[in-house]
Amino acid sequence: MISNKMVDLVKGSSVIRAMFEEGKALAKKYGAENVYDFSLGNPNVAPPQAVEDAIVDIVRNEEPLKLHGYMSNAGYEDVRATVAESLNGRFGTSFNENNIIMTVGAASGLNVIFKTLLNPGDEVITFSPYFGEYKNYVSNYDGVLVEISPNTDDFQPGLSELKEKITAKTKCVLVNSPNNPTGVVYSEKTIKELAEILEDKQKEFGTSIYIVSDEPYRELVYGDVEVPYITKYYRNTIVGYSYSKSLSLPGERIGYLVIPTEIDDYSDVFAAASVATRILGYVNAPSLMQRVVAECINEKTDISYYDRNRNELYEGLKKLGFTCQKPEGAFYLFMKTPVPDDKEFVAAAKKYNILVVPGSSFGCAGYVRIAYCVAYETIVNSLPKFEELAKEYKLI
Ligand code: PLP
Repeated sequence: MISNKMVDLVKGSSVIRAMFEEGKALAKKYGAENVYDFSLGNPNVAPPQAVEDAIVDIVRNEEPLKLHGYMSNAGYEDVRATVAESLNGRFGTSFNENNIIMTVGAASGLNVIFKTLLNPGDEVITFSPYFGEYKNYVSNYDGVLVEISPNTDDFQPGLSELKEKITAKTKCVLVNSPNNPTGVVYSEKTIKELAEILEDKQKEFGTSIYIVSDEPYRELVYGDVEVPYITKYYRNTIVGYSYSKSLSLPGERIGYLVIPTEIDDYSDVFAAASVATRILGYVNAPSLMQRVVAECINEKTDISYYDRNRNELYEGLKKLGFTCQKPEGAFYLFMKTPVPDDKEFVAAAKKYNILVVPGSSFGCAGYVRIAYCVAYETIVNSLPKFEELAKEYKLI
């Protein structure tokens, strides 16, 4: 008999994953070219050639027992130093290896930090819409996820509601920019206001409130949009990063946490996070991938590929009468559904072999998420199908 907690988790298992499986079944039935599967955020730009070169070079030339052996839970010191130097060069920070813990992607980074910080009943505030797994990551440690209602004007965080919802139990404010599912980048103005609110509330309650900044999409931004580096605006900031999207390596499970020396209780937090990687069972981030990302520290994905998809999809849907938030980052487009029931709309779209994810899976009903990390042809070929859908809802 499985645990009661898992019974509920299995029942509520990811809608996105279920759609992914459905997409595969539809592709078998109708042919992959006739299915427009926008359900999963799986990059479809191949990793840079430098990644393959680094893998081959490292495997051939490093001493095998050293390369494949155990290490400090936090990861190789020289890899952590390389990551720190790269951040310093890009953002004017002053990190070193003692501020970096290598992780098994963003998912493990978040679990490590919540394991480190949360007592049962502690609150983590996040802004809707948000990545659905946050609920699980917080409840893993008996924390409580507190949601701030979506600000559908521009999908910047709703800061007035935040002010009201911070309590003495608030341990973290979890932010994600560029955002999944909206593609919105939180502006510098937003970050400055957020920092001011949290400084005031820390004083009011005499507590430490940490911003946990989940940044797997940091590198995926379009045009000259800047993503503020939050440690520079708010002292108690911890950053979770991942190479899943920036180097197209989601299956390899590699990322890192930044734990600045300036945060409250830095030594305890860093030590506890290093223990957390071990006792959660990851032990340490994969050794080969640590070496690879250090060697590829200046490599980037081909953002122009996603940008072309973004423009084609956004302009195409707008012409058909759909209301969309133009994404500034990540590879998701958030579209208002012509009826309030987003699940009804998702079912209607499926009739045309279009697979999209209901906004309610992200805490924002009345919208759908369209992941445009697909082949350009999938977007072009889907637009006539979206047209039929638009006609069904009398948008044109
Ligand atoms: N956070 C957000 C907002 C995501 O969208 C994802 C993955 O899609 C993750 C975390 C998990 O990323 P990783 O594959 O690096 O664990």
